[in-house]
Amino acid sequence: MAKYIFLTGGVVSSLGKGIAASSIGALLEGRGLRVNLQKLDPYINIDPGTMSPFQHGEVFVTDDGTETDLDLGHYERFTHIRTNIASNYTSGKIYFNVITKERKGDYLGQTVQVVPHITDEIKSVIMALSHGVDVVIVEIGGTIGDIESLPFLEAIRQIRFDVGKENVFYIHLTLVPYIHSAGELKSKPTQHSVKELRAIGIQPDAVLCRCDRPLPDDMKRKIALHCNLDYEAVIGALDVKTIYEVPLVLHEEGLDELIVRVFNLQTRPPDLTVWKEVVRRIKEPVNKAVIAMVGKYIEYQDAYKSLVDALIHGGIANDAEIVFQWVDAEEIERSGPNVLLSEVDGILVPGGFGNRGIEGKIQAARYAREKKIPYFGICLGMQCAVIEFARNVCSLPTANSSEFDEGTADAVIYLMEQWYDFRKGRIEKRNPESAKGGTMRLGAYPCTLVSGIPETKAYAAYGRDEISERHRHRYEFNNKYRELLQSKGLVISGLSPDGELVEIIEFINHPWFLGCQFHPEFTSKPTEPHPLFRSFIEAALKEKKHLFPYERKPLRAEKGHPYVT
Ligand code: GLN
Repeated sequence: MAKYIFLTGGVVSSLGKGIAASSIGALLEGRGLRVNLQKLDPYINIDPGTMSPFQHGEVFVTDDGTETDLDLGHYERFTHIRTNIASNYTSGKIYFNVITKERKGDYLGQTVQVVPHITDEIKSVIMALSHGVDVVIVEIGGTIGDIESLPFLEAIRQIRFDVGKENVFYIHLTLVPYIHSAGELKSKPTQHSVKELRAIGIQPDAVLCRCDRPLPDDMKRKIALHCNLDYEAVIGALDVKTIYEVPLVLHEEGLDELIVRVFNLQTRPPDLTVWKEVVRRIKEPVNKAVIAMVGKYIEYQDAYKSLVDALIHGGIANDAEIVFQWVDAEEIERSGPNVLLSEVDGILVPGGFGNRGIEGKIQAARYAREKKIPYFGICLGMQCAVIEFARNVCSLPTANSSEFDEGTADAVIYLMEQWYDFRKGRIEKRNPESAKGGTMRLGAYPCTLVSGIPETKAYAAYGRDEISERHRHRYEFNNKYRELLQSKGLVISGLSPDGELVEIIEFINHPWFLGCQFHPEFTSKPTEPHPLFRSFIEAALKEKKHLFPYERKPLRAEKGHPYVT
């Protein structure tokens, strides 16, 4: 029988419940347990696919093509799980299921209510995850006291009743703020938050106290006393320089030990050597690369969560710190690329939708190509590189994507209305008039790499010719222009297995210029950096023109370490 850990949050949002849940997952996996993770979100949208990145941050895409919460990205980066459609439920999805059943007549004339019908639906989606795993970790979005999270809290309260108290562990994440005028850490917000939780029938088994300085012993005792907890169940969650340090901190505080003891599971302590090395490489890197991120959400970096992490992983693989230079694409349109991009070691144009800043991104691609600066174009970033090349090298001055100019004479990127879907094993048709939600090419698709002579960058990075990567886009490379662009030097180094969809493009006579139609950032991990990010950062370090701010040193090779090949 599976055990359940429920993680709730109190006092304020943004305390890092997702990182805490992921870290607990990493520690339990390290103990040899099989885990699964799930996020329950109280909002009404069916999924975050149609929500503005300003409101919700990045939309994370799973293998099965579900558009989900960015916390699922952390779950995958910290553990070995592959999330899917069952890993993230919103209130909207729960209500949708219940209402669909009601319309079908499944409730046989009953009055359909929040309790028990909504709560039963929530319980069933949680229980569905327990198959073949030892521990299910469920993160409840929002903060205690929110009206909309009540059905979720009621459901997790009932689960303890259903599966037995020895099989459930509640963790509450709170804040212990330092009040400067008083010169003290304060426990009151934690006490109030736990009181609120107990009022709805949940007594936490542990509290994680976010704090900016170590929690003194007497403070821990005070929190324990007032929250009805053992002293050892008060866990200090000290602010750290990198999120990858959180598993180390929680282990140090004895959290995983406490969990397995309460669950009565016999396990060995986790081996955290790899996590320690990840942290070492982030805190004391040998090299440094300045990477320009040319986007339109530069004030709101949660919109590029997986991407930022994947670049950091590329840094880890090369023992290098990544210095992010956030460049507003519209600023390039105003002041030209030279002002903003001349001092960087690599340029990355991420995915995106809509017109705003598009010409700036196209200029960035041209600048990188002409100045021979390593360039990584992801999804829209690849499309921009293709448009730029068509315009400036292939004499198609009005080349564009039909997303930005529907009537363009040369739509080198266009809306494909029909293609063979390898995941579904059938022809997929797209109606341009169709609804926005869930209508893109989404999820993992196979791609065949072209080895080529000279060897392509993609093949060199992956070291194999069959790969699978996740997509989230509507528009595609237009095959009508394949021959022309190739004759001028564009190399197509990755294709769908039937050769119909262009997935990767490169320029050979350039230190490193690669665009991919998929999102490699979704599958990169600190402990297994993605090959393309590793290779991009390697090129950026190699091409480094200036030695700012410290000299380039040879990589510190540590034989036997997973990153040293
Ligand atoms: N807007 C482009 C498309 O739909 C690119 C999408 C993306 O970058 N994720 O094809």
